[in-house]
Amino acid sequence: MEKMFNNTDFLVKCAVCNSSLDPGKIVVIDEKEKKTTLHSTCSKCNSAAIIFLSNNQNGVVSLGMATDLDVEEAKEKIGKEAISADEIIDLHQFVLGENADIVKLVKNI
Ligand SMILES: [Zn+2]
Repeated sequence: MEKMFNNTDFLVKCAVCNSSLDPGKIVVIDEKEKKTTLHSTCSKCNSAAIIFLSNNQNGVVSLGMATDLDVEEAKEKIGKEAISADEIIDLHQFVLGENADIVKLVKNI
């Protein structure tokens, strides 16, 4: 994550108030081979933005867009196909809930 921002310092400024964004408030909501979508929340003015990053032969191109979606809503709308860590945890807990009896689990399907 830190590595990723080495060449994209311009990203870490709020589009609204121009203050520095807290990297901890930048969340990857979708990641594809050459496209990454981020959601950022400014800790100063609290405005949210969706940032699209794409890699091409000219380097990294970013496009920021102010949004009123929060991280979860943005994930829902933009990163629909991406499996979040939460979903993996849910699945894990579901399997554990079945006493890890995978045979029984499969039979029920
Ligand atoms: Zn701001």
